[in-house]
Amino acid sequence: MFIARQIYRQLCGMLLLASVGLFIPNVVYASPLAMQQVADGIYVHRGAHEDLDEGYHGDICNISFVIGENGIAVIDTGGSIKVGQQLLESIRAISSLPILYVINTHVHPDHIFGNDAFVSAKTQFVGHERLAEAMDKRQDSYMRISQQWLKQDFAGSRMVKPSIAVKNKLQIDLGKRVLTLTAHPTAHTNTDLTVFDEKTASLWTGDLLFIERTPSIDGDIKGWIKVNEALLQSPAKQVISGHGQLSAQQTWQQAMQLQQQYLTTLLQEVRASISKGITMEKAMNSAAISQKGAWQLFDIINRRNVNNIYPALEWE
Ligand SMILES: [Zn+2]
Repeated sequence: MFIARQIYRQLCGMLLLASVGLFIPNVVYASPLAMQQVADGIYVHRGAHEDLDEGYHGDICNISFVIGENGIAVIDTGGSIKVGQQLLESIRAISSLPILYVINTHVHPDHIFGNDAFVSAKTQFVGHERLAEAMDKRQDSYMRISQQWLKQDFAGSRMVKPSIAVKNKLQIDLGKRVLTLTAHPTAHTNTDLTVFDEKTASLWTGDLLFIERTPSIDGDIKGWIKVNEALLQSPAKQVISGHGQLSAQQTWQQAMQLQQQYLTTLLQEVRASISKGITMEKAMNSAAISQKGAWQLFDIINRRNVNNIYPALEWE
């Protein structure tokens, strides 16, 4: 309600300026992202489940910010500077405290290209110890494909790399609010970082947990299954995943078990296909098909997953 009121006030202000002839047409008013308060000082924007190749608008992942007494941490920034600016506007409707940290949960383009909206002397960028290198390696291809996907909406976007690298664990203090950042071994990607807020026992998993949207594998499926086993031991009372949100009846542990079931079924069935001499092309249509009913965008993402893991598993 609070956010809705703020947005309403901003819109009224703009209309008022326009009506009295003071509206400056060159000023771009990005519309703020819709945020939902999920705990004391924690706000989350839910991205839409669009595929990157089809209907992608740069706004598909969950984006959050956390407010402490001295400042704010942003967790993931969306797929373009435009989304980053919309996020900044949403933050400013709620708090004027400085943005001390921008944390990226991993290298994927839908999570990082809003960083540039937060570049300032006060803001540090934080990621997995391998994130800067991964960004370097992928920079050209991510710029090219994001331009293709988003066209004008990607204009002016560029990569902003971390200034703080997390090896194992790092704690950051926002003022009476400590966030613990954990860098993980290769799983969804080789740059996965989780964030834990001690004050509310909230855990951000990045894309180590997908809800609703089919999990996509760009790292190591066996590593991911292991990391998920470890995350299931977390004392978290609530979890903010990289995509999607829990249904009313679901616990985060159940959501993670559902993802484990998909990943273990996929691993088993791709291995079985290889040992039976079933080609990758055929396995793309059959492996883990029993899991289809539980996931959105299954046909596209599951085929891609088989394509990713089959060649590596052939050499086991
Ligand atoms: Zn991802």
